[in-house]
Amino acid sequence: MTERVEAVVIGAGVVGLACARALARAGVDVLILERHADIGTETSARNSEVIHAGIYYPQDSLKARLCVQGREALYQFCRQYGVAHQRCGKLIVATSAAQQQRLADIQQRAAANGVDDLQLLTAAEAQQLEPAVQCSAALLSPSTGIVDSHELMLALLGDAERHGAVLALNAPVLAGAADADGLRLSVGGDAPMQLQADMVVNAAGLGAVALAASLAGMPAAAVPEAWLAKGNYFALSGRSPFARLIYPVPEAGGLGVHLTLDLAGQARFGPDVEWLQEINYDVDPQRGRDFYAAIRRYWPGLPDDSLQPAYAGIRPKIAGPGAADADFQIQGTAVHGVPGLVNLFGIESPGLTSCLAIAAAVNAALGLAVAD
Ligand SMILES: Cc1cc2nc3c(=O)[nH]c(=O)nc-3n(C[C@H](O)[C@H](O)[C@H](O)COP(=O)(O)OP(=O)(O)OC[C@H]3O[C@@H](n4cnc5c(N)ncnc54)[C@H](O)[C@@H]3O)c2cc1C
Repeated sequence: MTERVEAVVIGAGVVGLACARALARAGVDVLILERHADIGTETSARNSEVIHAGIYYPQDSLKARLCVQGREALYQFCRQYGVAHQRCGKLIVATSAAQQQRLADIQQRAAANGVDDLQLLTAAEAQQLEPAVQCSAALLSPSTGIVDSHELMLALLGDAERHGAVLALNAPVLAGAADADGLRLSVGGDAPMQLQADMVVNAAGLGAVALAASLAGMPAAAVPEAWLAKGNYFALSGRSPFARLIYPVPEAGGLGVHLTLDLAGQARFGPDVEWLQEINYDVDPQRGRDFYAAIRRYWPGLPDDSLQPAYAGIRPKIAGPGAADADFQIQGTAVHGVPGLVNLFGIESPGLTSCLAIAAAVNAALGLAVAD
């Protein structure tokens, strides 16, 4: 028997949960389908937990716009729902004359994105804030912060459920098809079922491209190619001498080996970039060797043997090695022609920061109001 639901969100990561909440608050009946036994066990549990300011992204890109909008919405959400977070700020440190020149470009790019609170610091001013840092100049980003991503996901789920959303765990979407009556989904797992939905949000993260490709009626030309780029982290044993996040001037392909903190003050370094053929979260301890040299450019006092392999996350890329970074794709009917379907592709960083703004954009793509 086929059950009818108004809307289905596929994937209970931070973005899927934010989408389910926004749909539920707009008065829509929502069923969230998650293939695992718990929410948020994939990319949403394997990231830096940084609330990004929105500094580096190309002007007018979705990443730039949704990060800046999403960041303020997220700070407000965290205050309102008691989600642990801290507006700790970050330093972007230049360690050569060439890098020092690039700080001005970064400040300009940020201003174009609406991030107008960056402060250019001399080496002495930077060291006054962070005595352990070595640099020739730095940019201070006061609106960068950190958040407990699990508390955030629980708060999003709780509010979605208060507005009527229902979560089904161990409920993988196996296949689907679009027809005149909406979208049909075949769900496996604990309680296999056939669903008919008016609206479907594909928030399946690393599975989003394969899922879209498997939907009969979805034009192949609208489905991007999927790439996997692992980011490995190494934890610092002992106390961190830093109170803020410390980033080098970005390098090609990533933000460079940077220092982030969790809410307990524990420091970790990463993520690096390792292209993969298949999903694999193991951290090769050998990769730590390259971390020491990169970190000592801005923290010469990093003790020998102080880095331990910690964890890894995988970026759901839609542009491969050597290609320019792709923007987020929020694909509605106007792009692929399938009524009621929104695909979310390439939701890598700053997806956590942007989750509330992405959810609002999904509602807009479905012609729904955004109810705060
Ligand atoms: C190394 C790394 C560091 C990052 N750091 C930051 C950061 O500091 N700040 C920031 O803003 N962003 C950061 N990000 C990005 C951020 O983590 C992601 O954008 C965000 O977590 C994506 O959430 P999501 O809900 O789209 O995906 P996910 O968390 O991957 O959730 C997708 C869910 O869909 C489920 N699913 C998949 N297929 C199916 C199916 N067929 N049926 C049912 N369920 C399915 C999966 O099980 C999963 O639970 C980082 C990402 C990485 C990889």
